Amino acid sequence: MDDSRFPRRRFIRSSLAGVAGFTALSATSSSAEETSPDQFPEAARQLPLDTDADVIVCGAGPAGIAAALSAARAGAKTRLFEVHGCLGGVWTAGLLTYIFDFDKPGLTREIIRILDSRDARRSENPSRFVYEPEEMKILLEELCLEAGVQVQLFTRVTAAYREGKRLNTIVTESKAGRQAWRAPVFIDATGDGDLGALAGCEWEIGQSADCPCQPMTMNALAVVRDTEALGKYISFNGTDAFTGEGGHITAVEAFKGELKRAGVEASYGHPTIFHVRDGLVMLMLNHEYGIKPWDAAAITEATMRSRAEVFRIMRALRKLGGPWEGLQIAATAEQIGVRDGRRIRGRYQVVREDLITGARFDDAVARVTFGVDIHAHSKEANQKEAITRADTKARPYDIPLRALIAKDVDGLLMAGRCISGDFVAHASYRVTGNAVAMGEAAGAVAAIAAQTKRLPHEIGWKEAAPLLESLRRTG
Ligand SMILES: Cc1cc2nc3c(=O)[nH]c(=O)nc-3n(C[C@H](O)[C@H](O)[C@H](O)COP(=O)(O)OP(=O)(O)OC[C@H]3O[C@@H](n4cnc5c(N)ncnc54)[C@H](O)[C@@H]3O)c2cc1C
Repeated sequence: MDDSRFPRRRFIRSSLAGVAGFTALSATSSSAEETSPDQFPEAARQLPLDTDADVIVCGAGPAGIAAALSAARAGAKTRLFEVHGCLGGVWTAGLLTYIFDFDKPGLTREIIRILDSRDARRSENPSRFVYEPEEMKILLEELCLEAGVQVQLFTRVTAAYREGKRLNTIVTESKAGRQAWRAPVFIDATGDGDLGALAGCEWEIGQSADCPCQPMTMNALAVVRDTEALGKYISFNGTDAFTGEGGHITAVEAFKGELKRAGVEASYGHPTIFHVRDGLVMLMLNHEYGIKPWDAAAITEATMRSRAEVFRIMRALRKLGGPWEGLQIAATAEQIGVRDGRRIRGRYQVVREDLITGARFDDAVARVTFGVDIHAHSKEANQKEAITRADTKARPYDIPLRALIAKDVDGLLMAGRCISGDFVAHASYRVTGNAVAMGEAAGAVAAIAAQTKRLPHEIGWKEAAPLLESLRRTG
């Protein structure tokens, strides 16, 4: 769907129409009348309705997992819906393999402890490191099962209904058909802000509505015969530095030299290799520009184009022989990596100025230490500079709880990259350590709201913070 055919104002109206139609319409397909040749008026129908949950979390990426775990551990009956066949979002379905800004109290430390106990993490640094995506999948499943989170995979959230301003019911689609779910509190952790948009919240994307936005990237796992021989092309190889021997930028430049020697160019100006373990590496090679995450046709083309690019580059490198001999793709990501999605309007908007001043808030749920990381929005910009910082020297700054609470709709929290912020601030807080911290906070607030029959904006952080603290299993 593109914006010109479905502008935002109409989108909100159609959501509101959904509210009115919720009790009034009956399910008779014969009542549907076609009003225009390019529109099909789908008939209303009765759906099975589940009212059992206290908290419903939509999307099981780093933010959604953290939200569901903290809500469930706080004693709330918690449901978690995920469209892909695994938990973890960009960590797993997106084959990210690298984590930033993770040195925070709470679930972050618990995940590190488990990864380490399974030898599934490279580096001693608690803030940024390589992890094994398959190990991440299984450990997240174990944590959710243990906490009693009711997970439903292969399930997409497709509609939201309000009673007045309050989000009341969502509808999902899966092989089980359409199902309706009602709860006192919902958390949008879809990354792309699907739930907030469906519920009728205002939102922004990229630098402006036309989506000059951060590009998408298809990550891939590959096997090599001798990782040591590839050492100088591998980012953060035995060091946490960005420059110098083994540093990220030095490795990127050396790798670009190899791509040139192979007669290919990567569409991402900073092509990157991470060492996952033994002969397994991750390749981050491509950029797909101007794709809106809700445009299914465009995202399909971008997915196929980027997968073809990964294979083209792999084959060209393999022909070089030497350290590249035997290189083969082991897996391409189930989901192309989406950097920019909707940013749902909250009761506070995190802005560039907050990064510059190192803002502090009484209701801080996370302290961000990662800088601004804006990938080029076009091929031309990528050729000039693949990554820019918007002239912003970020100091560690806080994300307030209010940025996680929807402004236009009650009973709705956001966590992860779809919280309320401007383009530049989002380019900093979006990394996964912050997504986890936000998720944990949203889950705790949601649990209290549901259990005390209040709305999330009626819960002060002073009330929620001690609960979250008591749930933490490590420092
Ligand atoms: C290519 C790339 C490289 C990056 N590099 C790094 C890095 O090195 N380190 C780092 O820490 N961060 C990195 N990031 C940023 C980071 O990965 C994301 O911003 C982070 O994933 C945010 O977590 P999230 O939980 O908000 O979103 P996501 O990980 O996107 O999770 C959202 C989840 O919701 C699900 N979902 C979406 N819509 C629906 C729906 N309607 N119904 C049901 N489920 C739905 C998705 O399938 C997904 O599982 C990178 C991102 C990309 C794309």
